Amino acid sequence: MKNKCLLSLLLLTSVLASCAQSPTGRSQFIMFDADKMAKMGVDSFESIKQEQKVSTDAKTNQYVGCVADAIIRVLPAEWQEGWEVVVFDSEQVNAFALPGRKIGVYTGILAVAEDADQLAAIMGHEVGHVIANHGGERVSQNTAANVVLQGAAVMTQGSEYQQATMSVLGLGAQYGVLLPYSRTHESEADVVGLKYMMEAGFKPEASMKLWENMNKLGGEKPMEILSTHPAPDTRIKNLAKHIKKYSSQGVKAKFARPSC
Ligand SMILES: [Zn+2]
Repeated sequence: MKNKCLLSLLLLTSVLASCAQSPTGRSQFIMFDADKMAKMGVDSFESIKQEQKVSTDAKTNQYVGCVADAIIRVLPAEWQEGWEVVVFDSEQVNAFALPGRKIGVYTGILAVAEDADQLAAIMGHEVGHVIANHGGERVSQNTAANVVLQGAAVMTQGSEYQQATMSVLGLGAQYGVLLPYSRTHESEADVVGLKYMMEAGFKPEASMKLWENMNKLGGEKPMEILSTHPAPDTRIKNLAKHIKKYSSQGVKAKFARPSC
């Protein structure tokens, strides 16, 4: 009976899941539709807004909003409306974007991103995570892993393996759109974001300078920006490679450099 239940769960998983494709052509395992992901993102964003101090500094909000607008207007047509950008007054070197079109920028990151071009690299990277549906992929992988682990926990009940299975389950139980991204996601967000910043009229080389600045930071690791960072040199080399590649493909500024 228990095995039958496990089988149903696995079948259900395969019925509900689908395969999608990221902007770089990577195939993705997706179990949640866009509406469900948007709701998770919006709910998480509301909680963050309640926990963190929202900046009311007009100049900072205007600067961040200006860079965000410049990136948003070069996104695929269906992605150009309905974004909310919030600046958080915090020393944390962090920024994030969530499904549901929410962008959060911490004032701490503005000291590391020295100019609008570097901030555009961050903005492109974060928005890239959302458009590539990395949150959906992450939550789906996590949920599928939990379904399998729960099945394993049932099957090992009373056995010497039960405790081991249960402890893995505990680790995997972390759920939601705020889980750390994988290196694959980080690299993909870098190259997707790079294209947006180029099209928006910013200097693409600023993305390399930004990560140089990031890599100089010591101390506590912020929750998104440096969470599972690819090796610094790899990241910068990958950006350099894509600046060349995009240029040879004819990717160019669709707008004059925004004066943010
Ligand atoms: Zn990232």
